[in-house]
Amino acid sequence: MIYPELSLLIDGEWVSGGGRATVPVINPATEEVLGHLPLATKADLDRALAASQRAYPAWRAMAPHLRGRILHKAAELIYERREEIAWLATVEEGKTLPEARMELGMAAEIFTWYAEEGRRAYGRVLPQRQPGVRMTVVKEPVGPMAGFAPWNFPLGNPSRKIGSALGAGCPVIVKPAEETPASALAIARALVDAGVPAGILNMVFGVPAEVSEHLLRSPIIRGMSFTGSTVVGKQLAKLSAEGMKRTTMELGGHAPVLVFDDVDVEAVLDMAVAAKFRNAGQVCVSPTRFYVHESIYERFVEGFTARAKALTVGNGLDEKNRMGPLAHDRRLPAVLNIIQDAVAHGATLHTGGHRLPGKGYFFAPTVLSKVPNTARVMNDEPFGPIAVINSFTDFDEVIVQANRLPYGLAAYAFTQSAKRVNLLGEQIEAGMIGINSFTIAVPESPFGGVKESGHGSEEGIEGLDACLVTKFITES
Ligand code: NAD
Repeated sequence: MIYPELSLLIDGEWVSGGGRATVPVINPATEEVLGHLPLATKADLDRALAASQRAYPAWRAMAPHLRGRILHKAAELIYERREEIAWLATVEEGKTLPEARMELGMAAEIFTWYAEEGRRAYGRVLPQRQPGVRMTVVKEPVGPMAGFAPWNFPLGNPSRKIGSALGAGCPVIVKPAEETPASALAIARALVDAGVPAGILNMVFGVPAEVSEHLLRSPIIRGMSFTGSTVVGKQLAKLSAEGMKRTTMELGGHAPVLVFDDVDVEAVLDMAVAAKFRNAGQVCVSPTRFYVHESIYERFVEGFTARAKALTVGNGLDEKNRMGPLAHDRRLPAVLNIIQDAVAHGATLHTGGHRLPGKGYFFAPTVLSKVPNTARVMNDEPFGPIAVINSFTDFDEVIVQANRLPYGLAAYAFTQSAKRVNLLGEQIEAGMIGINSFTIAVPESPFGGVKESGHGSEEGIEGLDACLVTKFITES
């Protein structure tokens, strides 16, 4: 496989060179430079904005089933190019090839979902107040959108921003992560090859804060969607508020996992370890704080540790490996510091806690137990291969712990009790709750958080609605 030339996509043109500054793209498994990414200038961003504005009326006017045909075609092309695109996600982000293939399937499905859902942007007719009066509610595209996508799902994250906007009839300017550009560009290429008109999809890279500020200050942009940390999300929400733009904020998480004493412990362990170390823990809905009933606590910690030790960590291209490296070198000190802080606060380290020797940003799968709430790992998103396992005795007490943080993205619980399942659904403060399952993201379900994990949802009918505005028309 060959790593491609990198470019921007502006008004239907693949743009590079021209004296633009570049940044190197690094393979996190080998530390080799894969390529050089051109960064957009202010003039590039202005061109993308003007192209979105110009292309918008025709895209908005196109019948949804015809827009849908293009999105269906893009999904087919993504599947056809499956091995090549999955390879890009692995060399850029580090995740294993099976994980990259799974993500690719998710990206393709996002386009098929919005291809169909765009046909269902229904309005309604209200009951008459008087004969001859007609009152209707219609949904219209919000207008040109901006999307900011992080590196941890280099195919899926940009696809969410693009699919929702295009399905709703909006153009979109997307800034994927500078760490994983070729993956995002491969998705863009499939869309262009499928027939997305010039100016409807623009893809830019640059200095993140400069790009987002420039786009969000433009009156052309009417809506935005961001996935990333809560800190950055708050900055972008403030910027968007100045122009009263619609926002979808998919921010950080700190998912609690409640494991009650009536479960098949070995089965839960198998699922929990796989979910925890998926993408080396760099997942916003990663299970982070395990609260395990005291009667099964010791067995759970031992079982988790044994499984974590047995994981083969290495280059994701080698299919025997189960976990790849951290995605970039900034994550190494971040992950190390948060573990050292936990140990300094009295936590027990069962395995891991260190970088692996040799080239690449590999970090050992880490298990901590008996971690006090004063430790940073109990409060800040660890975003790495760290499992924290504490015990509990009482239902009400563990609900208080689960809801303790300002985060409210994902939460999980394992129990066979129907009564508990109802109570958990009612009482846990999270945007997504997995009961006896870690699978909480499919295109037809809303993906988003509450509290400081953000607002709005991607995917589901909500994902389309985020790109639509409501208009009321009365006629007499
Ligand atoms: P970071 O905050 O520098 O960057 C995270 C992402 O946000 C990157 O893709 C970056 O390009 C983007 N970003 C940063 N500042 C921006 C701005 N002003 N405007 C637009 N985009 C901006 O952190 P990092 O070191 O890359 O990642 C570490 C932290 O980021 C993690 O601890 C995690 O909390 C968060 N993160 C969250 C997700 C998620 O899925 N919610 C994904 C990746 C990173």
